[in-house]
Amino acid sequence: MKNLFPKHDRSTDVRPYQQTVFTALLWFTCSAVLGYAALHFYLGARWLVIAELCLVAYAALLLYVVHETGRAPVTNLVFIVPFFVVMMLVLCAEVTGVTVFVWVFLVPLLSHLLLGRWQGLCVALVFIGCAGAIFVYKHGIWDGWLGYLSIANVVLCTASILGFSFIYEVSRAKTERELRALALADPLTGLANRSRFREVFARERQRYLRQEIPLAMLVVDLDHFKRVNDDYGHDAGDMALCFVAELLASRIRQTDVAGRLGGEEFGILLSDVDLEHARRIAADLRDLVRDRPFRYRGQDIPMSVSIGIAELGRDGMDFRTLFSKADRRLYQAKAEGRNRVVG
Ligand code: GH3
Ligand code: MG
Ligand code: MG
Repeated sequence: MKNLFPKHDRSTDVRPYQQTVFTALLWFTCSAVLGYAALHFYLGARWLVIAELCLVAYAALLLYVVHETGRAPVTNLVFIVPFFVVMMLVLCAEVTGVTVFVWVFLVPLLSHLLLGRWQGLCVALVFIGCAGAIFVYKHGIWDGWLGYLSIANVVLCTASILGFSFIYEVSRAKTERELRALALADPLTGLANRSRFREVFARERQRYLRQEIPLAMLVVDLDHFKRVNDDYGHDAGDMALCFVAELLASRIRQTDVAGRLGGEEFGILLSDVDLEHARRIAADLRDLVRDRPFRYRGQDIPMSVSIGIAELGRDGMDFRTLFSKADRRLYQAKAEGRNRVVG
């Protein structure tokens, strides 16, 4: 998969499923923690009730924000840390018994689900460590083999949940990356597909609007490609497409993206490149394809490309306008005799 995720692209960090778990945790806090606050009020643990009510109010506020904006906070840490802190206060409280420590089993699960593998592991280790210290402080080390056995059971169970959550999160993240790459790649050439290309354009457009980082779009079309199919067969045509895709991807930087927009037409987004520079790169690409014939069954098949260039800002601000400008210039290049750049 070539140049599918440009270097400054952080789109793989987005995890919509975490938002669902996050919202579920907020609802859980608003209901279950509120219930516990009522119980603790009845038991007379006033300071604990205050902490729990603050957490419930905070969860309700976040629920409101998520509902209104449709977006989760930048990081789930903003809620998971206060949630675990209140949990530790509950463990510390005199009114709570030894069984309240079963809630600690939630720590590794929630940490990994909401924070991912490494951040999740660190946060889980910190709070499991705190819970262990609170247990020893409150209940001491139980004497006798039954006591040791009970503690060993709890420690092993917690360690197992921690380990399994971590392994699960590692393999989930890997599968997600692979599926995402598959969904966004053109199956023949491995370049970005059209939807990925549009996705990158949207992000580059934001960079242009925020920081005025220029962006150029090239639309590249193989000249007389039908003849390759007609003369050498469809398989040779497919291999020629992969060959050209490889050539194009090899010439652009890691911050650029090359995509197959359909048939024998490719698109290239050149980030941080002005029009003059884009023309030079396009001319290089044109020469590269012309000078490196595709070799098929011992025969050299000469190929060439025509390229149309459009620049964000000068030629339009949305994908459709920019693409149609570049496409129009591409057809001008075809009309002027092919194997040329217009932009
Ligand atoms: P022009 O210089 O005007 O672009 O001529 P052209 O022959 O390249 O353009 P035309 O649109 O007439 O034909 C495009 C050809 O590209 C026709 C089609 O068979 C071929 N093609 C499109 N997609 C694929 C593909 O996935 N594999 C193969 N082998 N050929 C393809
Ligand atoms: Mg063509
Ligand atoms: Mg075409």
